[in-house]
Amino acid sequence: MPQKSVTWTIGKQKNIALIAHDSQKPVIIQWCEEHKDILKEHFLYGTGTTARMITDRTGLPVRGYNSGPLGGDLQIGAKIVEGRIDFVIFFSDPLTAQPHDPDVKALLRIAQVYDIPIANNKATADFLITSALMQTEYDHEVVDFKSAVAQRAQTL
Ligand code: PGA
Repeated sequence: MPQKSVTWTIGKQKNIALIAHDSQKPVIIQWCEEHKDILKEHFLYGTGTTARMITDRTGLPVRGYNSGPLGGDLQIGAKIVEGRIDFVIFFSDPLTAQPHDPDVKALLRIAQVYDIPIANNKATADFLITSALMQTEYDHEVVDFKSAVAQRAQTL
């Protein structure tokens, strides 16, 4: 049976999560500096160390959660599920093994489930942040969890 969906709206002001693995922290700080005028129009969140470093180096207000290896990626994933984060910039390190790789995968998966725009490198982030959709509301379809639970409870 096809899953029912509901329409969620990503507002004009986005709730943007900023995350970078250690080797990518200089890259995300430089990227934030480059796009500061756009970013300051939105609400910014991030994993602990990334958030702190962006605020210290660029002056942008970024609300920090736990550090990534201590659960910060999972906190951001949970906010996506709650509809409180709707846009993700995540500069991961493709060349270094991470102790919290399962958490990273969980975040990527849940962003996919909830149809969240997500950039995992600078070029994608540049395209996303300069999109005309940054200045408008955007409706998208996400899984209707209430009917999914009702249907599962009835059929399993
Ligand atoms: P950090 O976490 O910003 O606290 O370094 C990022 C990550 O490793 O996911």
